[in-house]
Amino acid sequence: MDAITLDLSQYALSKGIVLLDKTSAARALPAPLTTRPTKFPRAAYDAAIALQRPFNELYKDIACSTAFLDDIMNDLKTLDHFTGTLYNLYLRTARDPVQPLSLGVFRSDYMLDSNDNYIKQVEFNTISVSFAGLSTLVPSLHAYLGKKYQMHSYRSVPDNAAVQTIADGLYAAHQQLALKDSVILFITQENETNVFDQRAIESYLIEQYNVRSIRLHFSKVLECTRVDPQSSVLYVADQPVSVVYFRAGYDPKEYTSDAHWRARELLERSYAIKCPSIITQLAGTKKVQQVLATPGVLEKFVDQNTAHQLRRSFVDLYPLDTSSHGLKAREIALNDPMHYVLKPQREGGGNNIYSNDIPAFLKSIPESEWSSYILMKLIDTETHEATIVRDTKVFKGDTISELGIYGCILWNQQTSETFYNTGAGWLLRTKAADSNEGGVAAGFGSIDAPELI
Ligand code: ADP
Ligand code: MG
Ligand code: MG
Repeated sequence: MDAITLDLSQYALSKGIVLLDKTSAARALPAPLTTRPTKFPRAAYDAAIALQRPFNELYKDIACSTAFLDDIMNDLKTLDHFTGTLYNLYLRTARDPVQPLSLGVFRSDYMLDSNDNYIKQVEFNTISVSFAGLSTLVPSLHAYLGKKYQMHSYRSVPDNAAVQTIADGLYAAHQQLALKDSVILFITQENETNVFDQRAIESYLIEQYNVRSIRLHFSKVLECTRVDPQSSVLYVADQPVSVVYFRAGYDPKEYTSDAHWRARELLERSYAIKCPSIITQLAGTKKVQQVLATPGVLEKFVDQNTAHQLRRSFVDLYPLDTSSHGLKAREIALNDPMHYVLKPQREGGGNNIYSNDIPAFLKSIPESEWSSYILMKLIDTETHEATIVRDTKVFKGDTISELGIYGCILWNQQTSETFYNTGAGWLLRTKAADSNEGGVAAGFGSIDAPELI
């Protein structure tokens, strides 16, 4: 191992920029990291920050616009079983809502378009946004390595308030509910390796606000929680729950039995504030993103000026249905797919189909299912040379980066009144230019930091 790899790895271990080593609950590995920050235009970064609160508000409005979502989901629900099951659960539970407050912890992801040097939105995440805890620590790693090896101090890396943004959002919801002696319940995945990312939020809540949280695997919800029949208050280990914070529940593979769906229903029907509610999770589907890019749709939710600002970050998005727009997209997907990506209604990385793989993929599934996918133009982003250290293996070569901005919004689902709306904190992920997916946990990317120029 060379000296810089050793220094990076041991600094990461000593400061907690780590992932769980699956062999033990008390063993960590350095997260995949770049050795230095990546240059990123300040104007584009500022634009991403400025868009976050309007985007939060937009997705809140979508979650409150049942007619808009009904239209989309009615078509999707028979084609995509997972989305359909979530939607049906939403319909059942929405009839007798017990908790009007709703919390969104969001992350909007962008790539820099090399044609106009402006950010283009990859996607908007409304459930289980991750890496705030690790990405907050990356500037200090880069500063350390920079001073030690390159005599460079990376002065223009912006402060990263990602953990604070999420923890403050959870605290705002907790405060608003004012449920005596309550805890925040983190619902986690069984095989999660990104544990320390979540722990950073948990410890921030304790240290800053003296608010305790309890972590519970999604599969243990029925066993370890109960809902009071009179008050609908959710209890875990006999402690009332103010907020249910989902770091699970977005991947169909997690729902291995009907018990998982019953668990989701129990939580949804409880008095606790859900982060996110089922309808908020559905607002974050790729299909919604595609519909929003249709001319005139943004204007249903925001004023013209805001619509203009938001739309500047969109690339071409198409349905694959039998509308004239959809038929045109089918033509592209089958005959000229090089500059496009095909996306199903899934989260967590590793689900998309790229470029020349699209035609064969479409032909391998029934044509009746095509409209559960969307077609998106690939963002034209410049490559830059970077060094990535992944589990002591060094990759040096051409890379591309994706910037995420975190945001939190608390609202009343019945009146659509907003109580709290923030956008701050960033994640920069960098991956080899020739790998399609950028997921750090999914095994393709690394955590980086922007050096604003
Ligand atoms: P997920 O919800 O699974 O993260 P994304 O839409 O973010 O789905 O796609 C996963 C990855 O695929 C992104 O992180 C990015 O690396 C790549 N990707 C997705 N859409 C585009 C696009 N339009 N242009 C370029 N790369 C994209
Ligand atoms: Mg993504
Ligand atoms: Mg996503």
